[in-house]
Amino acid sequence: MSSEEFDALVIGGGPAGYWASLIASIRGLKVVLVEEGRVGGTCLNYGCVPLVTSMNYLSTVDLIRKLSSEGSGIFVKDLEVDIGKVFEYVEKNVTTPISEGMRKTLEDLDVRIISGRATLINERTAKVGDKVIGFKRAVIASGLSWKSLEGALPCVEFTRIREKPSKVLVVGGNPFGLSIASLFSMLGCEVLVVEGSTNVLEGFDTEVSEYLLMMLREKNIEVMLNTKVVKVVLSGDGKKVRLSTPEGELHLSVDVVFDAVSYSPRLDSLGGVKVDLEKGYIRVDERLRTSVGNIYAAGDVTGTSQYANVAIVQGIVAGENISGNDLRINLKLLPRYLFTYPEAFSVGLTESEARKAGYVVSVARQSLASNPILRSVGSAGMVKVVVDANYGGILGVQAVGHGITELINEGILMVALESTCGSIINTYLAHPTVGEVLRDSLIQVYRP
Ligand SMILES: Cc1cc2nc3c(=O)[nH]c(=O)nc-3n(C[C@H](O)[C@H](O)[C@H](O)COP(=O)(O)OP(=O)(O)OC[C@H]3O[C@@H](n4cnc5c(N)ncnc54)[C@H](O)[C@@H]3O)c2cc1C
Repeated sequence: MSSEEFDALVIGGGPAGYWASLIASIRGLKVVLVEEGRVGGTCLNYGCVPLVTSMNYLSTVDLIRKLSSEGSGIFVKDLEVDIGKVFEYVEKNVTTPISEGMRKTLEDLDVRIISGRATLINERTAKVGDKVIGFKRAVIASGLSWKSLEGALPCVEFTRIREKPSKVLVVGGNPFGLSIASLFSMLGCEVLVVEGSTNVLEGFDTEVSEYLLMMLREKNIEVMLNTKVVKVVLSGDGKKVRLSTPEGELHLSVDVVFDAVSYSPRLDSLGGVKVDLEKGYIRVDERLRTSVGNIYAAGDVTGTSQYANVAIVQGIVAGENISGNDLRINLKLLPRYLFTYPEAFSVGLTESEARKAGYVVSVARQSLASNPILRSVGSAGMVKVVVDANYGGILGVQAVGHGITELINEGILMVALESTCGSIINTYLAHPTVGEVLRDSLIQVYRP
């Protein structure tokens, strides 16, 4: 049995663990990262990246078909999609090179990467196979553990699909479920999303969510609320599903069922060390310390959010704090976004939240079709900017439409940096670009 001492142990090489290792190493710590799968974690290998890049390819196909059918001068005959090959292509050309690049970046910074499963023995030692690792501080960034209903695929396995299914059932109207539903609807599948609760777009502006639900229906996605799966049974090549709905039991046949709700925090790495939990997730304070002084946690395993943007920031903050700095997490400005087709996002306050908070509110709305770049890709939808009518401060930005994810970071910066209509209008945004649509909307409510 070999043993070695490190300043910092990081368990899990997803966004949270990657950034924690990178920062701690830059700050001069001797760091070991243990990852049992691939560097990049769920986000890069099984979640955000394969999902969003495949959707980008499919939306390009949609655009080419549209141009071809509208006499644009661009013609295609027999444009076909083999989804199994698309997933293989994404893995070979996008996820694998990025994962290898992340590994190389860490190795260049002298982070030791060990492949295997880490388990804490106590507050100062862990084991990986027959290796013993001594550490002063640790970051648990082990993410979630995904399971599925019998007969279903967990949503992290969507790239296992090799042939286009005709009918798809998605269990869960959360962001994972709605994204998977959109991906398969883009292929031309009939998709049903079943959601146990009464709402699928909680926290989104009413106009935005009504528009999005209408667009999803147009794209062959039906959403059933208050509905649960009772059983999935294999039947020939497909599945027979029993649903419990407010109107009684419903039976249907589908080709594939994706489960987007059967997940829980991955805690096996804690081994013999008891840290406090909250609703099953590792409880952390704003510095990301657990109840055990030298052990920190970051990312999905903390239950703060199930989004990579939060995992990245938490990884950075944990990395700084194990290196002796003192950073705190600020959860005031958590944006919401959905990689559906079309996409939607909400940053800062919605109109009703701003009114409830006592602001005198002006609302600027702009159709996406007024923007040359968005119009050129056939985007419909809108942006809505919520402004403090007294001082011109930008309180929130909401949007729905194809291509609008390119706007979210601009919206986040406007709200986070407390921009005013005047300060944005008086900048020289490049033209023609997607980002101009926000500035154009502000002109409606700007009072010098
Ligand atoms: C289908 C899908 C689509 C998504 N799309 C988006 C999106 O578009 N945008 C977005 O922001 N978020 C998206 N997410 C969420 C995003 O993937 C997660 O929020 C993010 O990956 C969390 O990062 P993390 O570092 O906390 O955990 P993970 O990325 O899950 O990484 C944890 C890592 O720890 C490793 N590990 C666990 N235990 C051990 C152990 N004991 N020893 C060694 N290694 C261990 C695992 O192998 C894993 O690689 C999506 C998720 C899914 C499932």
